[in-house]
Amino acid sequence: MEEQELIDKIVKGEVKFHEVEKHVGNDARKATELRRRALDVLTETQLHNLSIFSIDVERAMKANIENFIGVAQVPMGVAGPVQVKGDFANGLYHIPLATTEGALVASVNRGCTAINKSGGAISFVMQDGMARAPVLKARNASHARESLNFINRSKDKLKEIAESTSRFLKLEGIQTWIVGRNLFVRFVYKTGDAMGMNMATIATDEVIKFLETELELKHVALSGNVCVDKKSSALNLIMGRGKTVIAEVVLTRDVIKEVLKTSPEAMADIVYRKCLIGSALASSYGFNAQFANVIAAIFIATGQDAAHVVEGSQGFTTAELTEDGDLLFSVTIPSLQVGTVGGGTALGTQREALEIIGVYGAGESPGSNASKFAEIVGAVVLAGEVSLIGALGARHLTEAHVRLNR
Ligand code: NAP
Repeated sequence: MEEQELIDKIVKGEVKFHEVEKHVGNDARKATELRRRALDVLTETQLHNLSIFSIDVERAMKANIENFIGVAQVPMGVAGPVQVKGDFANGLYHIPLATTEGALVASVNRGCTAINKSGGAISFVMQDGMARAPVLKARNASHARESLNFINRSKDKLKEIAESTSRFLKLEGIQTWIVGRNLFVRFVYKTGDAMGMNMATIATDEVIKFLETELELKHVALSGNVCVDKKSSALNLIMGRGKTVIAEVVLTRDVIKEVLKTSPEAMADIVYRKCLIGSALASSYGFNAQFANVIAAIFIATGQDAAHVVEGSQGFTTAELTEDGDLLFSVTIPSLQVGTVGGGTALGTQREALEIIGVYGAGESPGSNASKFAEIVGAVVLAGEVSLIGALGARHLTEAHVRLNR
């Protein structure tokens, strides 16, 4: 078929967007161009900017996107370096941030300066486990309870089934709840250097097939919403999901004065009244200033699943005066989903962003690179909090946004 004829057929709906490849000998680039040209006609647009990209179309269409038409470009800046002292990360790291919010990179950069001048951030992963939690329907509550007892007795067998699906996945824990005749089973896995959502889903599917057969349970949904994937929840705040990261720094009074133009007392007061009381008043799980801002910018830059920002936005910032009059400042991120393999990490710019940080690909031991990345993300989130709380203390926030964001 001639190109124009094919475009006409797409416009008329006679060829669907997902069918274009088979009409052009599976040439993914050509199919992308024709879909875009058909869209030009359908929407009376000239989609020129969408067509400029370096992405590997074949690769992207295998695992990352359907009906590909081009690339959304987001400006990327660099902050840091930030000094991180972790169990896996140890050194100075440059941080790529993709955002359209002017002032964000500058703000994080300033936080990095304050952290570095105070001796660096301590950062570590407290807990690591990707969760997938199906909902199963039993005949009645008694049957649900019998099933739960069977699950508790069969942990070794379930572990064997789950771990047969991957070279890297390890079943670490099983959490269960019964509501009426509904059984919720939250499987928690270590997933090496991958964020692990696909791996956890594949493994859980196999385990559930076994449970259905053994127990005559009805498999209702592979996700019963207590995973809790991509939703705000007390459960993830308390129990954690993905990586639970804590980062802290002692900001000296001099550094606070010199870099942030405020005082330890002002910053501690803001964290107490804003991040604690204000968030409690709002019944928000974001007991922090801007976790989501920093996490979104790193996730978009490095090919993480951007929807997981909702989980990363939850967590606590604390600030307390020390006996020496300095400020012990920390962030706790209970539910951080990051990977250095899989997902969008191997796409061109995303891979380069991970390479800037020095964490692209598999670690020497499975999971070491993803843990290193998580520690660095923790330190950068800390930098974002230090800077924003500092700006509020110095009453610089509006001025910075007017200067850098308008
Ligand atoms: P993935 O790309 O689906 O799987 C990771 C792959 O990398 C596996 O094949 C694994 O091997 C391999 N691998 C190689 N070296 C590894 C190492 N050192 N550590 C771990 N794995 C290694 O990645 P994923 O993290 O599981 O899933 C991420 C994707 O899931 C994202 O695109 C996200 O958007 C999507 N997602 C899926 C769901 C869902 O319900 N399925 C929900 C939310 C998001 P093996 O084959 O041996 O395991």
